[in-house]
Amino acid sequence: MQKKSYYIKANRIFNPVRKYGWMATVLIAIGGFWEPKLGLIVLLVMAGLIITSFFSGRYWCGNICFHGSLFDRIILPISKNNKIPSFFKSKPFIIGFFIFFMANFLRKIIAVSKYWGSYDILDKLGSLFSSTYLMVLLVGGALAIFLNPRTWCQFCPMGTMQKLSYSLGKKLGVTKKTEKKITISDKDKCINCGKCSKVCPFQLEPYKEFSDKNQFDNIDCIKCSTCVANCPMKILSLEKEA
Ligand code: SF4
Ligand code: SF4
Repeated sequence: MQKKSYYIKANRIFNPVRKYGWMATVLIAIGGFWEPKLGLIVLLVMAGLIITSFFSGRYWCGNICFHGSLFDRIILPISKNNKIPSFFKSKPFIIGFFIFFMANFLRKIIAVSKYWGSYDILDKLGSLFSSTYLMVLLVGGALAIFLNPRTWCQFCPMGTMQKLSYSLGKKLGVTKKTEKKITISDKDKCINCGKCSKVCPFQLEPYKEFSDKNQFDNIDCIKCSTCVANCPMKILSLEKEA
């Protein structure tokens, strides 16, 4: 008999961007073969995620990201939804993959830069971004089906960039005023059922980590509100620091 997984395939929370964002992933990754300039949209995506994370941590991953939309909306129903291997969450792997990805990306940018000033430059640049998007669709998609929808997100270089930008915002004291975090209204009302962890797309454990201010400070929380919607005691919410 197959062992029952600890994790639950609970419906995730979808705003309109998250509901239909997966279409943009397919458009950019596949459409890029016909219209390479579509890849230039990724520049806006990168700017968006760096700016939002400066104020609000990994909010982008749980509320806007197009690949996240694909993983949560399209792949979740067919995913094995297993435990994410801790290897993919380890610092050495995350840093190593970030360096590998960025070095590779830089090498391709340098190759494309020789077209600077020609009519081809936008197509070449767009093609570079859309092929990178396709790579994430294929690798992230395979991991999502055979392991867990949000496996890629554990070491995604865009997630790492957000964490760097967030750390800067935090150091400068900006996030204190702008960041919303998962907040528990009353720790004594928590029945330790672990549901918030079982439904969490990142398999975090909010109920074990609430601070003295009743907030969940984990840098990897994507503020997706899935735990808020599923807590049976209705004691969770997404709030700024009081
Ligand atoms: S802790 Fe809650 S808000 Fe944060 S990632 Fe998990 S389910 Fe989403
Ligand atoms: S789901 Fe709610 S009641 Fe259950 S452990 Fe989490 S915070 Fe506590």
